[in-house]
Amino acid sequence: MNFENFQFDQRLLDGLDSMGFTKPTPIQSQTIPLILADKDLIACAQTGTGKTAAFVLPILNKIIKDDIRHLNTIIIAPTRELAQQIDQQIEGFSYFLDVSSIPVYGGGDGHAWEQQKKALNEGADMIIATPGRLLSMLSMTGKLNLSHVKHIVLDEADRMLDMGFYDDIMKIIQFIPNKPQIILFSATMPPKIRTMAEKILIDPVQVNIDLAKPKENINQQAYMVYDHQKNALLLDILKDYKSETVIIFASTKDKVKLLNKDFQKAGLSIKAFHSDLEQLEREHIMRLFKSKEIKMLIGTDILSRGIDVDGISLVVNYDVPPDPEDYVHRIGRTARADKSGTAITFITPKDQSKFLPIEQLLNITIPKNPVPEKFGEAPVYDPSAKPSFKRKGSFKRKPSN
Ligand code: ADP
Ligand code: MG
Repeated sequence: MNFENFQFDQRLLDGLDSMGFTKPTPIQSQTIPLILADKDLIACAQTGTGKTAAFVLPILNKIIKDDIRHLNTIIIAPTRELAQQIDQQIEGFSYFLDVSSIPVYGGGDGHAWEQQKKALNEGADMIIATPGRLLSMLSMTGKLNLSHVKHIVLDEADRMLDMGFYDDIMKIIQFIPNKPQIILFSATMPPKIRTMAEKILIDPVQVNIDLAKPKENINQQAYMVYDHQKNALLLDILKDYKSETVIIFASTKDKVKLLNKDFQKAGLSIKAFHSDLEQLEREHIMRLFKSKEIKMLIGTDILSRGIDVDGISLVVNYDVPPDPEDYVHRIGRTARADKSGTAITFITPKDQSKFLPIEQLLNITIPKNPVPEKFGEAPVYDPSAKPSFKRKGSFKRKPSN
C-alpha cells in the first residue's frame, strides 16, 4: 500500500514526498478511504501512529477536489500546542496546494483574537481550535459563516474529555447548521467516548489498531504476594535466569535505589536506572546493558518506553504498574524481534485492584502462580475485595492514619 492508492491529487502527493512520507501507517491505510467516502468515524490507535495525517490528508484532498472556498473544516484539539502542531503539519502537506488554515486558541492578546477573527472572515478553509476558545468565538462572532462546514475532527478525544471539554464540544456541534462528517480520533476508547460518539456521530465506522496488545510470544505470569515476600521470591526466580538478560520495574525511583542496594548485597550484578542519573550515566548504563556486560537492570517506567534491547528474557513488575498501558509498554521490552520472553508481575492485596484493569484491557486472565511454601502463606487473588478508589484524575487524599 502506498499513498497513490488513495488517488490523491498529484500536488498533495508532492507535498507528502517533500515531507518524506513514503508509505501510509496502518491507521492511515484504514481510515483514509473511509474519510474520503464521507463516513463518520471513530478511530483508535496509540500515540505516534500517524493519526494527524490520517485525517488531514483525505480532508485536504476533498477540499481541493471540490474547490470549496469557505470555512469547511474544524479540527478540535485539547491544547494550544497540539493545535499549533496540527497546523504546522497541514502547512507542510499543503505546500503545493491553495488551502489556508488557521489555529484558534486562547492565551494570546486581543490582537491575536482580532487576527484570528479576520482570517476566519476572510475565508480560511480550515481552523484548528481548542474547544474553549472556539466556543467563545462562535458565541461572540455571530457573523461567522458555518453553513459550509463539512468536516469536524475531534483529535485526542479521550484527552479532551479528561480535561472536561464534553459540554463545550457538544455546544460547538450545535452551532453547525448542516450535519457535517464527524471524525473522532483517540488513543484510548473509554466508555465516555462511546457515549459521546453515540450522541453526535451517525452510523459511524470504527477502526481500532490494537497496538496496545502485547505480543503472543510473551509468557505472562503473576504471583499474589505480601510485600515482605517479594525480595526472597524474586531472588528465587532469578536463579533460573543467571545467564540471561533481565529488567525489573519498580514504582518509584526511591524504591529502585533501595532495591538496587538490597539486590547488590544479595550478590546480584545489577544496576539501577532512573531519572536522577545524569544523562551520560544513563547512556553508559544502556550501552553496558546492550552489550550484555550488565545483565540486569532495575528501573522506573522511564525504562519502559522505547528502549529497544534485543534478547531480554525476563521482565519483572516488582510492583503492579499504575496504568494498564504502562504494563503493556513494560512487558514489551521482552520478546522483541520474534524471540520469546517471560513477564512476571508481583501483586499485593493492595495492588490487586490495579491488576484487574490490566487483565480487562488485554481481555485475558494472567495465571497466578502459587508462591512456594518456603516463603510462607501468600494472599489469594480477589480483585473485587477492595474497591478501586484511585481513579485517574481524582485527587482523593489517603487517610492520615
Ligand atoms: P499520533 O497523532 O498518532 O500520535 P502523529 O500524527 O503525531 O501521531 O505522527 C507521529 C509522527 O510520525 C510524526 O512525526 C509524523 O510526521 C510521522 N508520520 C506520520 N505518518 C507518517 C508516514 N506515513 N510516514 C512517515 N512518517 C509519518
Ligand atoms: Mg495525535
